[in-house]
Amino acid sequence: MSKVSRPAIFFDRDGVLNVDHGYVVDPAKLDWMPRAKEAVLRVNQHGFAAVVISNQSGVGRGMFDLADVDHFHSVMQAQLAEIGARLDAFYYCPHIAEAIHDEFRHPDHPDRKPNPGMILRAAKDLGLDLARSAMIGDRTSDMEAAKRAGIKGLLYRGEPLDDLVGALLG
Ligand SMILES: [Mg+2]
Repeated sequence: MSKVSRPAIFFDRDGVLNVDHGYVVDPAKLDWMPRAKEAVLRVNQHGFAAVVISNQSGVGRGMFDLADVDHFHSVMQAQLAEIGARLDAFYYCPHIAEAIHDEFRHPDHPDRKPNPGMILRAAKDLGLDLARSAMIGDRTSDMEAAKRAGIKGLLYRGEPLDDLVGALLG
């Protein structure tokens, strides 16, 4: 039996799915961007994987820990579930050159955007078809990560996210 690999829409998190209040980790500060949950649902319904690709240097900076980030993501999933949507995977990078913890200090970690490590790892883990995938982000580092991964990058400017995804998927 052969299985055709599915493509993905990779979402940057802060400033694309949720409002970027700066190092967001408190679920009380989870404010969804306009029609972001609906955008994820559309990706689900289109048969694409919906994957978060996020730098979370707040971990390396000692502002919060991995469990806090995971908890925030579980709250995101719970709120998505209310409309029948889900994110297939969360990839985030806690590493940064100026980390206060040794385990997270790295001068140029392959996962930290603009490096493409998380996108490439997700593709391998989930068996994704990168040729038909795209990354949506609000920073040039997101676009550069997409470019280095060899996929299309779409710069998000705060419009209803579902509109952008709808135009992309048709
Ligand atoms: Mg962002």
